[in-house]
Parts: sequence; structure tokens; C-alpha cells
Amino acid sequence: MQTSAQIHRGGCLCGKIRYRITDAPLRSSLCHCRTCRKIASAPTLPFVVFPAASFAFEGDTPESFASSEHVMRTFCGTCGSPLTYATKTDPQTIDVMTVSLDDPGAYPPQDHVWVCEKLSWEVIADNLPQHPRGLPHED
Ligand SMILES: [Zn+2]
Ligand SMILES: [Zn+2]
Repeated sequence: MQTSAQIHRGGCLCGKIRYRITDAPLRSSLCHCRTCRKIASAPTLPFVVFPAASFAFEGDTPESFASSEHVMRTFCGTCGSPLTYATKTDPQTIDVMTVSLDDPGAYPPQDHVWVCEKLSWEVIADNLPQHPRGLPHED
């Protein structure tokens, strides 16, 4: 990853929910799946994967929502910003919504995932790898 800082901070739009990460990111991707699109109300949802043990909310606790059987997502109950994605099938990592980080420009995506569910009018204009489904551990 481009960033080497070991402390990463972020939070929601209104500032009620803040979090801190104390380890380096593992990867950065753009998800085109239907669930992420609905959560973000946007064509894609970029996320950065971190070691789960390095992630902690500071202060207020966010709302959470099981978007599928093994997946728990968090968001701010006041402003609605999506914040994290965690799956029981891979408890070692947590996906953090890239744009919720304080410096989202520091985590450029490395690839596209779930391109099979991409909106027909969305044009991918970069040369990054495109995976039909999820990351290997999320397939
Ligand atoms: Zn908020
Ligand atoms: Zn997704």
C-alpha cells in the first residue's frame, strides 16, 4: 500500500462516530456489488481492508446491520454514513469504507470486485484488475 503510517483515523460525516486503526492496510478495492451500492446509494463503494484487531471505535458506538447472514455492517445512526463491513467467515480482517477515512486519497484502490453486478451505465475507465466476484476470501 502507498501509505506507511501506522495510525489511521476516520469517522462519519457528522463527527459523532470516530475510529482509529493502529496497523497498516492490507489492500484497497472498489466494490460494485448490489448490497454495497444500496448501502452507499452510489455506483461503487470503495473499502480498505485492515487487520480486525487493529480497529477500534473511539467514543460513541455506531449502529449495526446484518446485510447478509455472515456480514455485519456499521453506520452512523445520526448522519447515516456507512463505516465498516465485517464477516464471520473472515474474523481476522475488517473492511473500512475508504471515504470515511480522514485522508481517503492515501488509499488508492488496487482493483475492482463484484464487477459481475456492476451497473450497466457505469464505465470503468482505469486499468486496474477487475474481479467478477469478491476477494478470494469473500467469494
Ligand atoms: Zn454521523
Ligand atoms: Zn460489495
